[in-house]
Amino acid sequence: MQDLEELLSIDRNSIWHPYSAMSSDLPVYHVESAHGVRLKLSSGQELIDGMSSWWSVIHGYNHPQMNQALEQQLKSMGHVMFGGLTHTPAIELTKKLLSITPEPLNAVFYSDSGSVAVDVAMKMAIQYCHAKGEPKRKRFISLRSGYHGDTFGAMSVCDPDTGMHSLFAGVLPEQIFVEQPRCRFGEQCTDKDIAPLKNTLAEYGNQCAALIMEPIVQGAGGMWFYSADYLKQARQLCNEHDVLLILDEIATGFGRTGKLFACEHAQVVPDIMCVGKALTGGYISLAVTLATKEIHTIIDNGEPGVFMHGPTFMANPLACTAALTSISLLLESDWQGNINRIQQSLEKGLAPCRNMEQVNDVRVLGGIGVVELKQQVDMKRIVPQFVDAGVWIRPFGKLIYIMPPYVMTSDDLDSLTRAMRVIISKI
Ligand SMILES: *Cc1c(COP(=O)(O)O)cnc(C)c1O
Repeated sequence: MQDLEELLSIDRNSIWHPYSAMSSDLPVYHVESAHGVRLKLSSGQELIDGMSSWWSVIHGYNHPQMNQALEQQLKSMGHVMFGGLTHTPAIELTKKLLSITPEPLNAVFYSDSGSVAVDVAMKMAIQYCHAKGEPKRKRFISLRSGYHGDTFGAMSVCDPDTGMHSLFAGVLPEQIFVEQPRCRFGEQCTDKDIAPLKNTLAEYGNQCAALIMEPIVQGAGGMWFYSADYLKQARQLCNEHDVLLILDEIATGFGRTGKLFACEHAQVVPDIMCVGKALTGGYISLAVTLATKEIHTIIDNGEPGVFMHGPTFMANPLACTAALTSISLLLESDWQGNINRIQQSLEKGLAPCRNMEQVNDVRVLGGIGVVELKQQVDMKRIVPQFVDAGVWIRPFGKLIYIMPPYVMTSDDLDSLTRAMRVIISKI
């Protein structure tokens, strides 16, 4: 075993981390292991995990039932191609997903990551319109401050400014953007709030295959919670303009907002839905695009008679087993009770931040707590402060936010919010 300094120097010199420069002087911490809600660093420090490894590790790390199910699956097969072959983990997972997602969704497409699931959703919408005799409908309407992933298709519907679309001009498809809904979660959506979307659909609707949006929670594009009524009206407008509605539930799916899927807050049903992140309980990458029967039958009956996508590791049996086990664990647990408990704890623990000079807004929804500052966070300073305080929190921009594993105890939640209060007050 090489010593830690040597390992870290290889990391610094040769590995890209997400959205980072290799030559950056930002610290990167070496994790030795993770159990429950704690990350154990090689320095010996233990950190309470406020991030659930980006929304995904909802049951905690190193979960005995997850480990056992995966070990069992390994004994029969780790992988087998999905072209012309099938297996029980994929079939069982499909049955489970169809039983918990909104009723009209009845076909699933498996892929490796959220971004690809979004690209797949966009291709489905285009192929559907083409097969229906509307080949001109190739564009997408999306909300500003949205985030849908990093592949070219997904990136084209992310916020054009934070997504640096100008850098990729000419290569990236040009989509149509609507301003971010300003009506907050819990509020009504007025005519003025919905007008930008309404006008955009009236003007561009007939060139568009779909409206794509994150339901209720805009995640990585700004951690913003908007009115369920806006989503309801968006569904109605899509119907009026014959535009499909793609809901990206990759961050919100599997209980995070207090409903199993965030679209349930608005009793809205999408034509196409993407899930990922918490799908496998954070064990392995897997994502799913679900579509209605109408969409898959029309695609099947159109040109070229097949859906044009098929990843090498499609429906990997280990990933399907992880997903199936994670969903069972979730449904067997009192996840709603846990989310309520986390919500109360975050509301109480973060409320004092509202009165701090440097804070612009504090918002909590389900298992998500956000403190929005007036200024950009100095990552080089703040992350080590969190680590010294024994918590793992990774801010971006002006946002310091947490979405803990659902199993976190109230004491650990208190430690997380205390660290946020103390460190934010000293910014
Ligand atoms: C994370 C995320 C994605 C992209 O998923 P990856 O697995 O990182 O490709 C897409 N949409 C939303 C809403 C996300 O939060």
